[in-house]
Amino acid sequence: MEGTDTREALPPWLQAPWSGLVRRGRDGRLPTGLLIHGATGVGKALLTTALVQALLCQRASGEEAACGECNACRSFSTGVHPEVMALEPEEAGKEILIAAAREAIDFLSLSGSGDLRSVIIRPADALNANAANALLKTLEEPPTGAMLILEAAQPARLPATIRSRCQTIEIANPAPADATAWLRGFSDNPAAVDEAYAASLGRPLAAREILTDPERMGRWEQDREALTALLRGASVHAMAATLQRSLPESLIPRIQALLVSAQRMAVNGEPDAFGRQFPRALLEGFARRAGARRLAELSARALVWQRQASRQLNPQLRMEDIALNFQAK
Ligand SMILES: [Zn+2]
Repeated sequence: MEGTDTREALPPWLQAPWSGLVRRGRDGRLPTGLLIHGATGVGKALLTTALVQALLCQRASGEEAACGECNACRSFSTGVHPEVMALEPEEAGKEILIAAAREAIDFLSLSGSGDLRSVIIRPADALNANAANALLKTLEEPPTGAMLILEAAQPARLPATIRSRCQTIEIANPAPADATAWLRGFSDNPAAVDEAYAASLGRPLAAREILTDPERMGRWEQDREALTALLRGASVHAMAATLQRSLPESLIPRIQALLVSAQRMAVNGEPDAFGRQFPRALLEGFARRAGARRLAELSARALVWQRQASRQLNPQLRMEDIALNFQAK
């Protein structure tokens, strides 16, 4: 089996944070609460997973990555390491509830065989207020060896009491040129790399999934078809039928990106990277027909759709609402 999560697998923009964290961890200088803050798709989970594995590895030292071969590494890569627990929502997009937080607290208070016990909270901004409160005491009076790693794209959603008890490490988004240089390691086709990076809305890890996972690529192609139908201004029925085949959580951010591209096109006469994924004449025609005021109105509506995306609304009604808005003059 190939070693997983080794340092070589980390994108270049995670190398500096990695070196600092792993060195401090091996010197016993990491705090109990570590808040890893960075945009969605920048690689927070990659970094925290590699860090925890490296700290548990029985062979690696200094700034070395986990060896991938020792007993600790082997049980880590099969997901059964007894000193590691992930605290996650039951379903993606849902809150982390107090019952799950209590399990994590119990887990940390058990004395393990090693001297490090970690809980990775993924994503920490999904903790609801009660769950966050329950964790507060553990952060204030941690059991020996306990480490809480909180991953958050929107740390402002965490209670200030939690944030103030964690040390924050910010992971900056890489420059587009650095992100695409890294992505070219996963594809021989530069056009496919540019397309995946645009389709991911500038999220390098999501772009890598689009490049390497046919299902993700299929979802993007479906979304692009739906957005093309919106640009064409087909009948409401036809637009809604095409939109229906997409998932709101990927489609709606891409509708927002398309509207930004149309606005850019109207102002500069040039499409941005996302807009270049559509026939130029189509985007130009749409921007001209809609006009600046209508584009602004649609962008405001798209923010509402985005907020609704996390709620349990009837997806068919939602897609019809979107189609109607694109049809309206
Ligand atoms: Zn190892």
